[in-house]
Amino acid sequence: MGYDCEVAVVGGGIVGLSTAYALSLADPGLRVVVLEKEPAPATHQTGHNSGVVHSGLYYRPGSLKARYAVEGGRELAEFCREQGLPYQRTGKLVVATDSAELPRLHALAQRGREHGLPIRELGPAGMAEYEPRVAGIAALHVGSTGICDYPAVSAAYAKLSGAQLRTGSPVTAIARRADGVTVGTTLAEVRAKVLVNCAGLHSDRIARLAGDEPGVRIVPFRGEYYELTPAARGLVRGLVYPVPDPAFPFLGVHLTRDLHGGVHAGPNAVPALAREGYDWRTISPADLATTLGWSGSWRLGARHWRSETGELRRSLSKRAFTAGVRRLLPDCTADDLVRAPAGVRAQAVARDGSLLDDFAFAEARARCMC
Ligand SMILES: Cc1cc2nc3c(=O)[nH]c(=O)nc-3n(C[C@H](O)[C@H](O)[C@H](O)COP(=O)(O)OP(=O)(O)OC[C@H]3O[C@@H](n4cnc5c(N)ncnc54)[C@H](O)[C@@H]3O)c2cc1C
Repeated sequence: MGYDCEVAVVGGGIVGLSTAYALSLADPGLRVVVLEKEPAPATHQTGHNSGVVHSGLYYRPGSLKARYAVEGGRELAEFCREQGLPYQRTGKLVVATDSAELPRLHALAQRGREHGLPIRELGPAGMAEYEPRVAGIAALHVGSTGICDYPAVSAAYAKLSGAQLRTGSPVTAIARRADGVTVGTTLAEVRAKVLVNCAGLHSDRIARLAGDEPGVRIVPFRGEYYELTPAARGLVRGLVYPVPDPAFPFLGVHLTRDLHGGVHAGPNAVPALAREGYDWRTISPADLATTLGWSGSWRLGARHWRSETGELRRSLSKRAFTAGVRRLLPDCTADDLVRAPAGVRAQAVARDGSLLDDFAFAEARARCMC
């Protein structure tokens, strides 16, 4: 068959656009089309996050996440510098507020050193040098963490890649052929040699549309934020995190300064009632049916219901959320916090209820999923 392009990428978030950019570096002559269902790129996870360039501190040594965070963080900082995009190396503080957290804080320090990160273990006085208004009994400072503007980075990838970005083009059908793939969108068909699935919250659906069974389902978890009022922003200088709870897969409510001087508190992690459910009112019966029809969702719920109850409480009650923030920042009151837009994470959940804690790539003839 004739081809419209060599590679069709589904999804114009940062993964899809960086894939297009990487392909253009590998082979500048390659014709790449990026299909994005929304009117603009970076509309979902890429445009709704904390903007933190993670250091790789939490990730298992040897995992792809550890490798990509450590090497990729450096490359991203360099890319932002070269392209004149905003980036700040803020460093971050992981703070223990309870003696029970000290062994975990120490283990994190060890892991950070294994990754070659610039780590300092601090007592309260050392901690106060970085964050005088934060409370805790010990902390870890990681010097390499930074912040950037992910939508701006994505726009730069799109431009530099030379790929054709077709927005407003939801992929609705995928027909596999012996020599390639025909991708149907609501606007037109695209014939490609290879299809790359970078569809974020819908990546399991795209895989199934292509005739593959990924063995996981995307279960959407909303992360809600409050923002410190301008008068209260001075309470936080950089990025402040609690010691993560190993029984809970998310990082816990933390404080992050953004490139414009704002400070966010959050995100929490509550089940979203739609894959793009940015509030409790947005409900998709089809998305809910997929989540509830997946045995992994029930197993996950049975395992984590206790921590989820706390997350739900913090979602529904500002008082409870403020109490969570005050563990790290005792001077913060409810009046210092105003609601800010939420994001929804694409959490891949296996049939046994385990959460995929590393990047997963699956490949099949003429297509792959990432
Ligand atoms: C609350 C929150 C906070 C986070 N904080 C951080 C952080 O501080 N640092 C960090 O590194 N990461 C953070 N993340 C994670 C980060 O945002 C994601 O890992 C990243 O944005 C994923 O990019 P993506 O391209 O895979 O997904 P997305 O940005 O969601 O892009 C997928 C795209 O595919 C499109 N698409 C889906 N289905 C179709 C279809 N059928 N046809 C065409 N297009 C389709 C969607 O419209 C979307 O634009 C956070 C995430 C959340 C939710």
